[in-house]
Amino acid sequence: MKAPTIHPRRPRNATGVQEPTLEIDLAAVAANTRRFVRQAHGEVMAVVKADGFGHGLHAVARTALAGGATWLGATSIAEALAVRGTGVEAPVLSWLNPVEADVTTACRHRIDLAVPSGRHLAAVVEAAARAGYRARVHLQLDTGMARDGAAPEEWPDLVRTARRAESAGHITVVGVMGHLARAAEPGHPANTTGLRAMLRGVETAGQAGLRPSTRHLAATAATLTDPDTHLDLVRIGAGLVGIDPSGSTRLRSALRLTAPVVQVRRVPAETGVGYGHTHVTDRATNLALLPIGYADGLRRDTSEGARVLVAGRRCPVAGVISMDQVVVDLGDDPVEPGTEAVVFGPGDDGEPTVDDWAHWAGTIPHEIVTGIGHRIRRSIR
Ligand SMILES: *Cc1c(COP(=O)(O)O)cnc(C)c1O
Repeated sequence: MKAPTIHPRRPRNATGVQEPTLEIDLAAVAANTRRFVRQAHGEVMAVVKADGFGHGLHAVARTALAGGATWLGATSIAEALAVRGTGVEAPVLSWLNPVEADVTTACRHRIDLAVPSGRHLAAVVEAAARAGYRARVHLQLDTGMARDGAAPEEWPDLVRTARRAESAGHITVVGVMGHLARAAEPGHPANTTGLRAMLRGVETAGQAGLRPSTRHLAATAATLTDPDTHLDLVRIGAGLVGIDPSGSTRLRSALRLTAPVVQVRRVPAETGVGYGHTHVTDRATNLALLPIGYADGLRRDTSEGARVLVAGRRCPVAGVISMDQVVVDLGDDPVEPGTEAVVFGPGDDGEPTVDDWAHWAGTIPHEIVTGIGHRIRRSIR
């Protein structure tokens, strides 16, 4: 057998060295945003948590606001402050914080806060009283997930206490929020139950004297499939970046992940490939090496079945994906080192999609797009 040739990575052109790159197509985010703005009965909040679902916080926030979204949403106060730090003036809501979170700083930067319990409310009221301002609050009700939000039995107490704090001038109850567990299954009875719980919660708040102007329950799936859930505001995350958990609607995917072929080698039949030799070639073939691995977000458990587009052909991954590298089987036709391989993209050229990778990994596309590692260069278009 001939000794393998190692080809150095070569510059693609005068301006750039080839390296694994995540291309982010903001036109797709803009088109998706406009679609939700058209469809929503009320306003649209762009949920930009987890670095804008891995697409870049700043880029997604700016694009969504330009497309007609009027609110921004994030989980922690730190994330919400990062949103505010991009210079946006729109209302920003933070909905997931421990009781001891720095609500003083949040309020100083005009961050709206979700309040899921009496203890959270007490902390917000105390900070507001100390600083002499009115905190903007969204009371958060668990509408059937047993996850975040106040349990239904705590709700009457929470709204009464909130009303007293509002009368005392410490808070304004801007909103009431819930979340649906099974919106990806349109028509599931849990969705009706969730909507009823939400409306009952709003009614209870009204009886306590609160007048929240912004009632919000629906995220991407419910917005696409159940107009009754839209209320005053819908919170859209996945849909902005082209993911529809309900499978009902064609949205535009905004990501393309590429890597240059580092090395190509010819191997005989019966060659063990990669750690553990989990793959053994059944014929003589050509193997290409790509400088991208599970530390970059390629899921190691997709090694069997996964494909990468090289020179217009979908080539199988051979062996387990390593931390930094992956081998693909080119078959009889080698390519030049430096050829661009497409790991995933919108699918227009036959390349695998984020949905394909999610399927191979037994997960949802959300986990793929938020899992792309920091050392992958981002290129925003
Ligand atoms: C993530 C999240 C959303 C956005 O959901 P998508 O399905 O991604 O649109 C909305 N609300 C809450 C509370 C969330 O945690």
